[in-house]
Amino acid sequence: MPNNLKKPTIIFDMDGTLLDLAYDDFIWNHQLPIRYAETHGCTLEQSNQALFQFYQEHNHTLNWYSTRFWSAKVGLDTLALQHEFKHKVALRSGCMELLDALKAQDYPCWIATNADCAGLQFKLEQMQIAHYFDVIISSESIGYAKESIEFWQNLHTLHPFCLDSAYFIDDTEKVLNSAKKFGIANLITIAQPSSKGKIRDESAYPILNHLTDLMQMLEHTEDMKKYA
Ligand SMILES: [Mg+2]
Repeated sequence: MPNNLKKPTIIFDMDGTLLDLAYDDFIWNHQLPIRYAETHGCTLEQSNQALFQFYQEHNHTLNWYSTRFWSAKVGLDTLALQHEFKHKVALRSGCMELLDALKAQDYPCWIATNADCAGLQFKLEQMQIAHYFDVIISSESIGYAKESIEFWQNLHTLHPFCLDSAYFIDDTEKVLNSAKKFGIANLITIAQPSSKGKIRDESAYPILNHLTDLMQMLEHTEDMKKYA
């Protein structure tokens, strides 16, 4: 098949892109403060303050995404906490429709997530979506968070893909910025990563209001190629 007719690789973030970020918000911002207060015998306010301090120190680092790190830091098993509320893990609206449509049209789909290996495995088991993806990678196994260009350099060495045609969809602007620096051509953000959160109407990147809107974007690009 001539190179220009190859389907572009579609790389998805997981939490906040394919999966509803409301779950992570519930675990880390609501349940963990309660458990931390219980474990350490402090008030909920003190617990929130302590956790906020930790969050500020580690945001956008590999530690931030590591359940092992947080378990040691807060003195309770954060992976067990996630399992306890596993019934709350949910796909974002339109996720299955989008993955079915991409699969039917033979688009290679990947997951590139900052979730650590244990968190990734847990969520994939809950949602049963692993079979849609040709490559599933955690930044923990790469050794750099997606916010670092080194993540993309290492991913590309391990799993080469065409930067000029690839799509990367992620709800975090800092992550999209590093993907842009690395040279991924088509970068898209998410309007509402959490079903209980705000709707984003401004971004440096095109915004997906509904996941299934991606199909129209792709069809448009494929049409442009045919007449190029
Ligand atoms: Mg995300």
